[in-house]
Amino acid sequence: MARYRDAVCRLCRREGMKLYLKGERCYKSSCAIEKRGTQPPGEHGKDARRGKLMGYGEQLREKQKVKRIYGVLEKQFRGYFERAARQKGVTGENLLSILERRLDNVVYRLGYATSHAQARQLVAHGHVMVNGRKVTIPSFQVKVNDQIALKPSMVKNPFVQAAFQTAGGRRGRPAWLEVVDEENLVGKVISLPRREDIDPSIKEQLIVELYSK
Ligand code: SF4
Repeated sequence: MARYRDAVCRLCRREGMKLYLKGERCYKSSCAIEKRGTQPPGEHGKDARRGKLMGYGEQLREKQKVKRIYGVLEKQFRGYFERAARQKGVTGENLLSILERRLDNVVYRLGYATSHAQARQLVAHGHVMVNGRKVTIPSFQVKVNDQIALKPSMVKNPFVQAAFQTAGGRRGRPAWLEVVDEENLVGKVISLPRREDIDPSIKEQLIVELYSK
């Protein structure tokens, strides 16, 4: 799958907020937002004023922010929106639920990786199993009662262990996921994600308005 290859910290500066795309570094003083503040990137960034966005501009920035948080490109994101609109319920919440249930996001939320990018790599490289079977598709959608585990050869990997400890403390885990075996890093989907389990700063209604024009 295609991915953003630019320095990811520029994406945070573009959105004017921390998107936590670089794992551990995002919590350190070397974070670009900590060092340089939220001025937009680029040669003229220091001169650019981040005025209050309204209407289309605000809707567009919100969509870009959410795409970047989950590491999804436009075509796939649009497909998720169309699927969300066909489902029963609130379209914006359906969209966030689909994004949350991506396997790479679940690997990140369970704490097997420090960033979405690292989680996607674990999946793509065949280190993740769902219900005992290897799954290499980062966009795979988990469902209730699925068990998500790492291959035994990865369980003691120091990067995985460090990420897991961090997730248990500073980051926390959402209520819809549970670690059922800490020693062997086995997690379970105990319910579908609800709106209150997902980043409250996301204004999904703006994305719905954008795509509904
Ligand atoms: Fe964003 Fe993390 Fe880079 Fe900070 S270190 S700017 S939070 S990606």
